Amino acid sequence: MPSKYLTPYIANVVSDFIERYRLSFNKLPDSAYDEYKTLIQGVLDATLQQDSQSLGEHCRKLAQINSRYNIPYIVMVNELNAIKNRLTAILLEHEARDEVFALQRTYHDIENVFAYEYLHQYMSELTHANTVRMNSLKDLLKKDLIMHYQSHLEWLNALIKAIDAKQPEQMPELEADLCRFGCWLHTDGKAVISNNSKYTYLVSIHHTLHALGGAIHNQMQKPFINYNILMSYLEKCEFISLSIGTELALIDNRNLVKDISKDPLTGALNRNALESVFSNHYELALATDSYFVMAMCDLDYFKMLNDRYGHLAGDKVLKSFVSTCKHLLRESDIIIRYGGEEFIILMSNTRLAPAADKLDQLRREFSNLCCTVDNQFIDVSVSIGAIEIKPNISDSQANKEINTYIQRADMKLYQAKEHGRNRVVS
Ligand code: GH3
Ligand code: MG
Ligand code: MG
Repeated sequence: MPSKYLTPYIANVVSDFIERYRLSFNKLPDSAYDEYKTLIQGVLDATLQQDSQSLGEHCRKLAQINSRYNIPYIVMVNELNAIKNRLTAILLEHEARDEVFALQRTYHDIENVFAYEYLHQYMSELTHANTVRMNSLKDLLKKDLIMHYQSHLEWLNALIKAIDAKQPEQMPELEADLCRFGCWLHTDGKAVISNNSKYTYLVSIHHTLHALGGAIHNQMQKPFINYNILMSYLEKCEFISLSIGTELALIDNRNLVKDISKDPLTGALNRNALESVFSNHYELALATDSYFVMAMCDLDYFKMLNDRYGHLAGDKVLKSFVSTCKHLLRESDIIIRYGGEEFIILMSNTRLAPAADKLDQLRREFSNLCCTVDNQFIDVSVSIGAIEIKPNISDSQANKEINTYIQRADMKLYQAKEHGRNRVVS
C-alpha cells in the first residue's frame, strides 16, 4: 500500500480532521477529541498496513463513540470521504495510479465495515425505542386507530431480527396489502378514515414502506451486502413508520375531543380533562418520536373589560376567543379552559417555530375582532406564552409531570404581559 507517499502527511490529515470536528461539535468533552484522534490515526495506520482486522476494530469503536455522542452516521461517512479525497490528491500528485485504485478499494471496505457497525448499533437502539413506543401506546386514553400503528412497529422489529440474523427468508410480510396493517387499512381503515386525502397519503407511505422492505430483502440476498444502502433503507423505514403513527394519532386526537366534557360557556374542554389529555399527548409524542407545543393564553385587562361593559360582554368575548381558536387551529389541537379567562392550547406534532407563527396569527385575528356592545367597539387582546415539549425514552416520571410544563409556559406568559401584552413569547 502507498505508505511511501502518504506517511509524511498522516499526522496532518489527523489533526485537520480533529480541528474540523472541534468546529462542528464544540460541545463534546475534551477526552472525546483525544479518543477520535486515536481512532482516526488507527484507521489510517491500518489502511496503510492493509491490516483488515485492525481496520474493522477501529471502525467499530468509531461507530460506538459516534453513537455515544449522537453524531449522525452521515457526518462520519462524509469525514471519511474527505480523508479519502485528500489522500487520493496526494497520490495523484505523485502519479501513483495503482495506489489510487488500491486506496479506493480499501476505502470502499472501510465504509462498509463502518456502515455494518453503525447498522448494528442502530438496530439495537431502534428495537429498544420501538419497545418503549409500544409501551407508550398502552396507556393512551383514545387508542382507536393508533393501535394499528403498533402492528407496524412489530413489523419493523421483525425486519430488524431478519437483518440481524442475515436470514432473508425470515422477513415479515413484504406485500403492502397483506400485512396486518395493510389488511386493516384496505377494509375497516378505509371506512374509518373519513378524510380522503389523509387516507390516500397513508396508503401511499405504507406502500413506500413495503417497497423499502422489498429493497432490503433484495440487498440481503446479494453476495456482497452494501451495509451503507441497508442502513439508509432502514432509517427511511423508521421514519415512515413514525409518520404512519403520527397520522393516526392526529385522527385519534380529533376524536378524543368529542368524548370529553366541555365548558358550557365557551365549548373549550373542561380543566378536569387537562391532566389526562396532556398525558395522552405526551405518550403519543413518545410513541411517534415527535414534538408538541403547550401554549398558555390569558386575555388582557379582562377585569377592566368586565367592569366597563358588564359580565355578559365579557362572556361574549370569551366565546369569541374560543371560536377564533377553533377557526384557526387544526382539529387535532386541543383548547382547554384553564381558569376564568385563561386557556391552555396543546398542539400535537409540531415544533415551536411554526406553532408560534400560528399562535401569533391567532393573537392578531383575535385583536382584530370587531366585538361590539350596545354599538360600542370593545378592544380585546390576548397574551400567550408557548413552550415546546419533546418526550424522551429515558424520561423519568418527574418529566411527565404536567405542572413543570405549566410553570414554564406560565413564565413565558408572564414575559408577554411584562413586555406590554397582546404578544406571543416562545
Ligand atoms: P391581565 O391583563 O394582567 O391578565 O389582567 P386581567 O384583568 O385580565 O386579569 P385578572 O386576573 O385581574 O382578571 C381576570 C378577570 O376575568 C377577573 C374575572 O372577573 C374575569 N372572569 C373570570 N371568569 C369569567 C367569566 O366566566 N366571565 C366573565 N365575564 N369574566 C370572567
Ligand atoms: Mg388571568
Ligand atoms: Mg387576564
